[in-house]
Amino acid sequence: MESLEKAGLAVNYNKERKTKSKSLPKRVHIWDETLRDGEQTPGVALTIDEKIEIAKMLDDIGVAIIAAGFPAVSPRETDAVKAIASEGLRNAIVAAPARAMISDINACIDAGVSEIPIFIATSDFRLKYQLRMTREEMLERLAECVEYGKEHGLVIDYIAEDSTRSNMDFLCKAYRVAIDAGADKICVADTVGFVRPRVMTFIMQEIKERLWTGSKYKVPIAVHCHNDFGLANANTLAAIEEGATYAHVCVNGYGERAGNAALEEVVIALEELYDIRTGIETEKMFRLSKLVERHFMIPLPLHKAISGDNAFTHSSGIHSHGQLTHSMTYEPISPIRVGRRREFHLGKFVGRHFVEYMLKMGGVRANEEQVKEIAERVKKTHEDIKKRQSKECFDKVKEELRSLRTGVSEREFWAIVFEII
Ligand code: MN
Repeated sequence: MESLEKAGLAVNYNKERKTKSKSLPKRVHIWDETLRDGEQTPGVALTIDEKIEIAKMLDDIGVAIIAAGFPAVSPRETDAVKAIASEGLRNAIVAAPARAMISDINACIDAGVSEIPIFIATSDFRLKYQLRMTREEMLERLAECVEYGKEHGLVIDYIAEDSTRSNMDFLCKAYRVAIDAGADKICVADTVGFVRPRVMTFIMQEIKERLWTGSKYKVPIAVHCHNDFGLANANTLAAIEEGATYAHVCVNGYGERAGNAALEEVVIALEELYDIRTGIETEKMFRLSKLVERHFMIPLPLHKAISGDNAFTHSSGIHSHGQLTHSMTYEPISPIRVGRRREFHLGKFVGRHFVEYMLKMGGVRANEEQVKEIAERVKKTHEDIKKRQSKECFDKVKEELRSLRTGVSEREFWAIVFEII
């Protein structure tokens, strides 16, 4: 792209000042949630060894913070977090979340983490139905927990669960209480993936106006977005455009329900489209994606951005030919940038030029007649589809995949119930 821009042959609006927010940070820290929110992907369970292997690789590629698990869940989970915390990671800080409860914070302390994001909801309906607390009680609890964490010499963050559905005055009051109690960072959480990017912009602007204006210490803001409307990445980037400097992500976009913002997608967008540094060695991202896919046993969609099998595969004859004349014709970035290589999948769209190119690359000579025959054979192979057989196979694979999910489905739950009752 760069050389095309220099030659005046392509315009890159991403680089134009008019399209950039004034609040854009220079650096964004990647806060990985794969081992916490990611493990809450339905049907996924990781062994301690798998968790350690993933944590090490996250550390190796340059993640700033690893949420290693949720110690309050069980003693085994505490052990897993403890194992990661004592691994001696090179770059990453090991964190573990706690509800605003002293016992949860103690579980995190037992696990030996150095950072605890404390979460408690700010939306009124959650206070009423989930937490059964008044606003005042909640604020009191929050302050008490943040102070308790700080007394233990830890980095403490405050995640306002359901921030995006909370009364703005109260949300900012909660942040203020947490900051006054010593919180080091605050986090805006779109817990149910509910807002539009412009709304995220609005919320961030309001928070900054109320917490940053006139204040010497501009508390760092993190953002946690869910993908229920397919907007997790967009909302994460919208918050960053307004000055958020910590992005919560999961490898491959795994996570509860429709998942979280995807590490590899957010990172490459920041690096390539915004020119923001993330500290991530992007060339190693594909290996990480594959490792996590295997441990999660949740197959990536073939067409998934950046890490899907097809993300850098060309099949149309026009596209393949375009790729041969200039790599930027049908690719926004070089696949090498994310640890991949360009591939071609040949079929009925194959053209003569492409066959000639392949033969040349393979050092094979052929006359015009032979080239024509090769192209026809490739097209025919594609069109000779045995659809019924393929579909039966596809159904079987899907069924097998479902059987790999760990945990208990609703049907299995009732089976257990009626065995006991
Ligand atoms: Mn979440």
